[in-house]
Amino acid sequence: MNDFEQKLLSMLMGVLLVVSMLAAAKEAAGYMAVSTGKVRTGTVGAEASGEGAADAEASGTGTVAAGDNAAGAARGGELPCVVVDAGHGGWDPGKVGIGGTLEKDLNLEIALILKQYLEADDIRVILTRDSDEGLYDENASNKKVQDMKRRVALIDEAHPAVAVSIHQNSYHEEPVHGAQVFYYTNSEEGRKLAELIQGEMTEKADPENKRQAKSNDSYYLLKRTTVPIVIVECGFLSNSSEEERLNTKSYQDRLAWAVHMGILRYLNGQE
Ligand SMILES: [Zn+2]
Repeated sequence: MNDFEQKLLSMLMGVLLVVSMLAAAKEAAGYMAVSTGKVRTGTVGAEASGEGAADAEASGTGTVAAGDNAAGAARGGELPCVVVDAGHGGWDPGKVGIGGTLEKDLNLEIALILKQYLEADDIRVILTRDSDEGLYDENASNKKVQDMKRRVALIDEAHPAVAVSIHQNSYHEEPVHGAQVFYYTNSEEGRKLAELIQGEMTEKADPENKRQAKSNDSYYLLKRTTVPIVIVECGFLSNSSEEERLNTKSYQDRLAWAVHMGILRYLNGQE
């Protein structure tokens, strides 16, 4: 190789390096740039009353500390963090379906799929549980209370940009069905997040669903945490066809995808 060839070669390698660095930078910036068009804003509010509160977790009183730290996503270039909470677990089955499905099992399935989707978008995911175990000690005097307190502590310590708690609903009237997302009454950020996820769930998983995101001032997890948080009730186990659908991998996948898209849109500052 003569001098000229050597110079040419090193120039070429320099160009390649710059090109690959640009490509990497573009990819890194790309994950937040999820453009999926306009958010649907449904106006139909036909909603059976009351069932939202059917899944009234351990209740408790306390002062509101809805910090609403918004999308702390861009903080110092670190990866945004999302806590995914699979409701119930272990000793606590949650709702029991008309055909025997245990809520805790579906919650975990959907939470694990959601984790994969979020991680594929470079989001750091913290699960409150990744197996059929609650967050209580076996000898706790009140397992439910200890479990809920530990979930709250875990969420607050992680200080994520967003937290989502996955649940299944139940109601005493069989026809009642459809996914619904709940947010804390006084939380503006929670409302935004809930509406984005609700819109995605309706569009991507169940276009017939007329439910709207709904405020709630009594759910323990909503009251006691200080980050934007929503409770996603994926469907009603008291409705046999919805229970059946919730048990299929394809529907679980669509639900998880929709929740993940809602989270991305929130982190991306969409409304
Ligand atoms: Zn539940």
